[in-house]
Amino acid sequence: MIKSLIRKNLINFRAYTSARSLYQKGVFMDANENSLGSAISAEYSPELNRYPDPLSLDLRKALAEFLNIPEKNIFAGNGSDEIIDLLIRLFVEQDEEIVVLEPTYGVYRVSAEIAGVNVRSLLLTENFRVDIPSLLSQVNSKSKIIFLCSPNNPTGNIIRFKDVENISRNFNGIVVVDEAYIEFASEPSLVNKVSVLENLVVLRTFSKAWGLAGVRVGYAVANEIVIEYLNKIKLPYNLNRISSALAIKALEANPQMLEFRKVLLEEREKLAGNLTNLGFKVFPSEANFLLVNYPNAGEVAKKLALDYGIIVRDFNSKPLLKDCIRISVGTPEQNQVLIDSISKILQKII
Ligand code: PLP
Repeated sequence: MIKSLIRKNLINFRAYTSARSLYQKGVFMDANENSLGSAISAEYSPELNRYPDPLSLDLRKALAEFLNIPEKNIFAGNGSDEIIDLLIRLFVEQDEEIVVLEPTYGVYRVSAEIAGVNVRSLLLTENFRVDIPSLLSQVNSKSKIIFLCSPNNPTGNIIRFKDVENISRNFNGIVVVDEAYIEFASEPSLVNKVSVLENLVVLRTFSKAWGLAGVRVGYAVANEIVIEYLNKIKLPYNLNRISSALAIKALEANPQMLEFRKVLLEEREKLAGNLTNLGFKVFPSEANFLLVNYPNAGEVAKKLALDYGIIVRDFNSKPLLKDCIRISVGTPEQNQVLIDSISKILQKII
C-alpha cells in the first residue's frame, strides 16, 4: 500500500549514486576530495577531507541499538525539519494536500507551501485535542499526509496511541507523528508501533532533550519502504561527519540527557506554579515549554524583551491562542529572573 502513495515520478526514480555508495574502503581517488588532509581537525571526527557515508550507517546502527529497532526502519536527517520536507516531496503531488491541525508547528505548512502543494488546515478543539471523527470526515483522496505533533508545539499536550491508531487505520495516506518533545512526556514514544501501523512515520530529534539543536540531527522511524525512498530522494550527503559522530556520542551520554530531563521537568512544574500564582492560566504541558494565557500577554512579552532582555514567543495571532505566549523552561536562575521580571511588569500594568 505504501508504494502506491509515493509520487508517481519517484516510484522508479534512479537515485544519485555517490562515490561512497559503491566502495567504502580503499585508496579513494574517485571523489575529488583533498587527499592531503583537511585544513583543520575536529574532535570525534577524523577524515574531514572525505565525504561522509551517504546512508549514515554508523549513526543508524547506533540508533537501532538504542531504540531496539532494525536500522532498515530508521532514516537519519539534517534535523527533523529536513525529514518533514522530504516526506512532503516524497508523497504529495502538486494537486494533493497535507493536513495540519492548528495551532501546531509551522514548518509543516512552510515546507508544503515551498513544495507548491495544498495545506488543509483543521483546528484542534478548544482544549487542543484532535477531533478524530471530524478529521476523518474531512480528509479525502487528495489528502496524502496528516501531520500530528505529540507533544504538540505550542500547546504542549500529547495525542495518545489509541487515537493515532484510530487515525492511521482509517486514513489511506501517511500519518506523521512528530515527537520532537517526547522525552518530556508522560507517555512513551510510538517508534515501536511502526511495525504494526504501516503508514505511520515517527519523527524524533536530538535538538530538544539531548541539547543538540546546533548539531542538526533528527531521524524518522517508519516502514522500510518509506526509509528506502527517503534515502533515494535526499541530497547525497545530507548528514555531515561531525554531526553524525556527535549524535552517536550523545547516545552514549544518555544519563546526561536523563538528568536534563529531570531538571527541566522539575523546573517546568515550579514555573507553572509560579506563573499560576501570578494570575496566568497555564496549560498542562508534556514538553519543555509552557503555553500560558493572560490578558494582553503580548504586551507582557514585549516588555520582557525590551525592558528585561528575556525573549518569549507571542502566539496571540494564531488560531485558538488569543493572549497566549509560549515560554521555554530555562535554568532555575533564568526561570526565577523571568518570574521576578513578570511580577514587576504586572505591578506596573495593574
Ligand atoms: N518538530 C517540532 C514539533 C519542533 O518544535 C521543532 C523545533 O522547534 C522541530 C520539529 C525541529 O526539529 P529539528 O531541530 O530536529 O529540525
